[in-house]
Amino acid sequence: MNKQFDVAIIGGGPAGLSGALTLARGNRTVVVFDDNQPRNAPAAHMMNFPSRDGTPPDEFRRLIREDLKKYSKVEFKSERVNDIKRNELGFMLEGKIQVKKILLAHGVTDILPEIPGIKELFGKAIFHCPYCHGYEYLNEAMGMIGGKEYADHMSVLLKGLSKDLVLFTNGAEVDQYPGIKVYTDKIDSFIYEAEKLKAVKLVTGEVVERSYLFYRPDQKLSTGLGVKLGCELTDMGHYKITDFGLTTQPDVFAAGDDMTVMQSVVFACAAGSKAGAMINFEVLQLINRK
Ligand SMILES: Cc1cc2nc3c(=O)[nH]c(=O)nc-3n(C[C@H](O)[C@H](O)[C@H](O)COP(=O)(O)OP(=O)(O)OC[C@H]3O[C@@H](n4cnc5c(N)ncnc54)[C@H](O)[C@@H]3O)c2cc1C
Repeated sequence: MNKQFDVAIIGGGPAGLSGALTLARGNRTVVVFDDNQPRNAPAAHMMNFPSRDGTPPDEFRRLIREDLKKYSKVEFKSERVNDIKRNELGFMLEGKIQVKKILLAHGVTDILPEIPGIKELFGKAIFHCPYCHGYEYLNEAMGMIGGKEYADHMSVLLKGLSKDLVLFTNGAEVDQYPGIKVYTDKIDSFIYEAEKLKAVKLVTGEVVERSYLFYRPDQKLSTGLGVKLGCELTDMGHYKITDFGLTTQPDVFAAGDDMTVMQSVVFACAAGSKAGAMINFEVLQLINRK
């Protein structure tokens, strides 16, 4: 006998857990799958979330799961979902769990380049978002790594945190930016000690002392499940959604980093909650029709 739920949530990060909370409060049966690879795991603290500024990321998730304990209709599975098939009742997951609706809240995976030291420093001294990290290093020696499009935007934004700002283009040609020294040579490696950045070493052998850097890695959806279900993507590679999180496939919703470039915990929670409310409404419409 297959197990049945109203909704399956793929991903138990801020988006998925917030969706679960809203659905639980709508009295829906929910199964949350999570294989525990949160995007912000490299960072010791989660910043810029009202009332939780500075909370460790795993503690934040634990607190939401604690809230969810009150709701007996929410079940957790610490497993990766690899297979979802549409059928006449909705969707079958892994050939054994039947649901009416899907919430894709699986997030994205950052793709770091093969530069020695970057994996060790990402989330510790190399950051992607100045609202998440940066204030802690106010006025220290800062750098940004990127081409023209990135530098046009970040040269404005980062000046708010430190005037001591340089640009590493890692081989790309760019314009000049007033007050910002530009290094166009490729980066050889990062010099660091105990997760603290000391300097950037260029292939020419030049060493540029810096305390922290900003860099936006490429990213990809953390699973191909939505694409297999036929969900269309934006030019940026995220799910195309309506205002309420419905993808281009009926009954398949998305929330969190997988549907926006505005990627932060507070946005993910809001999107999860909004999608949860819409899914609840649609499930109730189905039930009331019978
Ligand atoms: C280094 C770093 C630091 C950051 N710091 C901050 C910060 O300080 N403040 C802030 O607001 N934002 C921060 N962010 C951004 C923040 O991490 C994301 O915006 C947020 O985590 C998005 O939540 P989400 O639920 O969409 O995805 P995630 O938090 O990535 O959660 C997705 C979950 O889905 C699971 N999953 C994926 N595929 C499957 C599958 N097939 N089956 C089951 N489970 C699956 C993953 O294992 C993961 O647990 C940071 C990001 C990075 C990279």
